[in-house]
Amino acid sequence: MAGIEPQPGIMDISLYVGGKSHVEGVSNIIKLSSNENPFGPSPAAQEAVKRSVHELHRYPSTDHAALRKAIAEVHGLDAERIICGVGSDEILAFLNQAYAGPGDEVIHTEHGFALYRIGALAAGATPVEVRERERVTDVDAILEACTDKTRLVFIANPNNPTGTMIGLAEITRLAESLPEQTLLVLDGAYAEFVEGYDGGAALVEERENVVMTRTFSKLYGLGGLRVGWGYGPRHVIDVLNRVRGPFNLSGTALAAAEAAVRDIAYSEKCRAENTRLRAWLAEALAEHGVPSDASTANFVLARFGSQDEAEACDTYLQSQGIIVRRVAGYKLPAALRITVGDEASCRRVAHCIGLFKAGAR
Ligand SMILES: *Cc1c(COP(=O)(O)O)cnc(C)c1O
Repeated sequence: MAGIEPQPGIMDISLYVGGKSHVEGVSNIIKLSSNENPFGPSPAAQEAVKRSVHELHRYPSTDHAALRKAIAEVHGLDAERIICGVGSDEILAFLNQAYAGPGDEVIHTEHGFALYRIGALAAGATPVEVRERERVTDVDAILEACTDKTRLVFIANPNNPTGTMIGLAEITRLAESLPEQTLLVLDGAYAEFVEGYDGGAALVEERENVVMTRTFSKLYGLGGLRVGWGYGPRHVIDVLNRVRGPFNLSGTALAAAEAAVRDIAYSEKCRAENTRLRAWLAEALAEHGVPSDASTANFVLARFGSQDEAEACDTYLQSQGIIVRRVAGYKLPAALRITVGDEASCRRVAHCIGLFKAGAR
């Protein structure tokens, strides 16, 4: 259209490609492509969704007080410094919108989550990609890439799609060494899968330049409802609340998330099952000659000898009704990301990869 043009940067965004969910002509699919909880959400969250139908004519809460209080109690945080969003994706978008614009730089790592780059471009800023060290976040490389234009640094810890993470000492060193105008965003989408890890919450409380994001889409099994949250210094939460829409979360989503976070027994059970099955899966794949880095999340990144081999394996798995995730778009063409499913799914995917590697296709 003559004269009607989007803001600079928008047309550089490639459309996000989600995990596949069906294969032509194959029923009974095992979907291991989107890091979803194989057990679904807590029964208490499902009940809350059912109860919420009686309130559908009401506008939802605008301050999310009940959900923030539940999160604060369960995680031992300050409810005043929590913000809730339509998935943590929305919190990431608020951060880009509020802190980055034309002329600013936004750092993400080589195999980092696609949305960091998309969000930076959508805000008109310049995404800057920093190399990792053997699929692990490299703090020194990030610090070397910082300039006086760097406004945001996004790292997922644990990272997706690598599954690796760096320790709190390294994160603290990064936060302490950043330029003064730079905010560090710790994306904790997979933090709940790591026993004894607070996602960086204590660091957020100590410092003015660290924000943590979390989600109900992974451990809590509520990806379909879109609820995430952020924890940050007061000055940042105040800024983000100004760009947040007043009714960004539905009443149904708020009620389900509150019930889910309070069902501690259920989330502990899911975490324990993930830890057990992840170890089993990684070992089974290794026995078939498919190595992976030690994963701290709910997936493993299976490495093959070449891009051709990874693609052939993916094609074979699809013919067997198993969908995993290709990650060539994350600069990992010879790898496949496999979500830790329930026990039957883990056994099935490992068995099929074994057959593939044995050449018995
Ligand atoms: C899944 C995921 C998210 C969470 O997305 P939601 O919008 O909360 O569903 C955020 N960051 C990473 C790295 C993820 O893998």
